[in-house]
Amino acid sequence: MEVLKQRILEEGIVVSDQVLKLDALLNHQVDPQLTMDMGREFAGRFADSGITRIVTVESSGIAVAFATAFVMNVPLVFARRKKTLLADPDALCERVPSFTKGIVTDIMLSRQFIGPEDKILFIDDIIANGDAARGLIKIIQRSGAELVGLGVVVEKSFQAGARTIREQGIRLESLVRIKSLSEGKIVFED
Ligand code: 5GP
Repeated sequence: MEVLKQRILEEGIVVSDQVLKLDALLNHQVDPQLTMDMGREFAGRFADSGITRIVTVESSGIAVAFATAFVMNVPLVFARRKKTLLADPDALCERVPSFTKGIVTDIMLSRQFIGPEDKILFIDDIIANGDAARGLIKIIQRSGAELVGLGVVVEKSFQAGARTIREQGIRLESLVRIKSLSEGKIVFED
């Protein structure tokens, strides 16, 4: 997605050779027009797949997941991050390490909002090592729903997450792929 590459070059801040700050676009501020363009792009790539629900993890995935859900005219469900897990017989839970915060969080999704009749498109902001995505994939699989695919805004292809998920046979579509952040420079895959 060329427009997104351009915005990342203009507004992204390379924090280290592993981390790109995208607060201006994804993780703090949201540009509604650009976010709707992302939603249309994902909706187009997964058109005719019979998607019944969009799933994401709070919080940075919500805006683009909403845009995708709006275009596809299906509900959006976001997995919640819980500090303490109250006993909830309806909750599907996974413990995932957080790439940026260096802590472990529990994510949960209620069985009320996902089930065996669903065909799920999972939308997320950035994929690095893939821990967050793997956690939600496990939850989706345990719910009995069919995971049609994963749409991520930014794939850092120099980290293993996206590759290992594709190796599991899961369709993963990214809007931009970054192959390096070395020496303060953002380099995209072709
Ligand atoms: P993973 O579980 O794939 O290692 O990391 C995924 C999550 O960590 C993303 O949803 C994102 O919020 C955060 N993250 C990973 N890498 C980066 C990065 O380079 N920049 C920012 N801003 N967040 C990141």
